[in-house]
Amino acid sequence: MAKRVLILGSGVAGNALAGSLRRRGHDVYLIGPMRTDARGSIGEHLAPEALPLLQALGVEDLLQDRTHLRSPGVVSLWQGRMATKDYSFSLGGDGYNLDRTVFDTHLRLFADQVGVRLLDGVSLTAIRRAASSWIVELGSKRSSMRIEADLLVDASGRSATLARHLGARRRFLDNLIAVAGRYRGEDRGNARLIVESAGEGWWYAARQTQHRRIAVYITEPDGVAGSDRTALWYSKHSETELVRTLGPPEDATVAAWDARSMVLLPQGGAGWISIGDAAMAFDPLSAAGITKALADACAVASLVSDRGPIESEGLGRLLVDRGRRWRAYIAGLQASYGGLASDQGQWWAKRRRWATELDSVEPAGFSGPADGGNALADTSGARSH
Ligand SMILES: Cc1cc2nc3c(=O)[nH]c(=O)nc-3n(C[C@H](O)[C@H](O)[C@H](O)COP(=O)(O)OP(=O)(O)OC[C@H]3O[C@@H](n4cnc5c(N)ncnc54)[C@H](O)[C@@H]3O)c2cc1C
Repeated sequence: MAKRVLILGSGVAGNALAGSLRRRGHDVYLIGPMRTDARGSIGEHLAPEALPLLQALGVEDLLQDRTHLRSPGVVSLWQGRMATKDYSFSLGGDGYNLDRTVFDTHLRLFADQVGVRLLDGVSLTAIRRAASSWIVELGSKRSSMRIEADLLVDASGRSATLARHLGARRRFLDNLIAVAGRYRGEDRGNARLIVESAGEGWWYAARQTQHRRIAVYITEPDGVAGSDRTALWYSKHSETELVRTLGPPEDATVAAWDARSMVLLPQGGAGWISIGDAAMAFDPLSAAGITKALADACAVASLVSDRGPIESEGLGRLLVDRGRRWRAYIAGLQASYGGLASDQGQWWAKRRRWATELDSVEPAGFSGPADGGNALADTSGARSH
């Protein structure tokens, strides 16, 4: 029997899961407007690992849109050391410097075309459990409606609105802000993602299509509060070595973005699950958030079966996979932050210390459920930053 699934949040995770579940014959409601942002795009880079996931979802063609620029890899200048990562030997081929608005629009179109019920202009007003299903009340300015669902999915990004409504809480790991400058440049030159460390933060930058460039300074919000962001961005930009090779930024439009990393505890429960950034929002250094959102969508779609919205065994496997991903993420952070020399200044000393403590931040259930009852409980010793 088809399951009734209600998903909150129409970003990558929500759109991909909605389309995939609908294709499998389930009844899917997707709540929320199309993801747009007046600040433009944050210049996400899609690593080749995402391609098999897009293929599994049947939407790999959306990368053919010319607004996404093929990227052969990453070049970094990290604490004085230059390194290059070349995608030419990866199974997925090139990466992409994405136009996120176009990417999300196409994913939403996919959901729409396969018959997902898109509910825009409504917000959650109440949720209650009724036997083995949920009764969800939705309201708009003019009317209200009620939906009964077997499974609720939080895909609302790091706001994790639905999960928090159900009692979950977010554990923030690092308090970062992204100050992004977008400017024009010629459509030639290397499309590698550039990563460069700075005195009190680090940069990523990339060439995009249609004469666009983006250069993003990641730092702590304290270093930005009260300052003229545009002036700060220009001043820090002028100190870069590698980022500046993208050309002079004239008339940059500068905006700030929340870049906090966090993990949701618990990740799900009876009849609900979190996916994408609602479940875990990674440090932008990983450049893996979109791949993770797509992987979550594929994993959850395969778990929703005729027998039940998600069986506890399936949920256990899902959490073990998330645990693997979590540990790979932590190992990556430790490699980037942990091995730094001690003379790099306070900002880096803080991250070096923090990286060594990250091993203790493992939410329960990620290594496999000890028993069905507490597989999703929070018993970790994680610290909030
Ligand atoms: C500075 C920065 C750089 C990054 N760089 C990269 C990168 O290079 N590569 C990469 O792969 N990832 C990158 N990421 C991560 C990536 O942006 C996220 O992982 C990705 O957007 C997560 O997708 P999502 O669908 O889970 O959440 P989101 O994209 O946040 O989508 C959530 C959706 O839910 C909606 N929503 C929220 N609350 C409600 C509500 N109450 N009702 C209805 N709708 C709601 C939102 O409006 C939004 O449409 C970066 C992130 C940052 C901050």
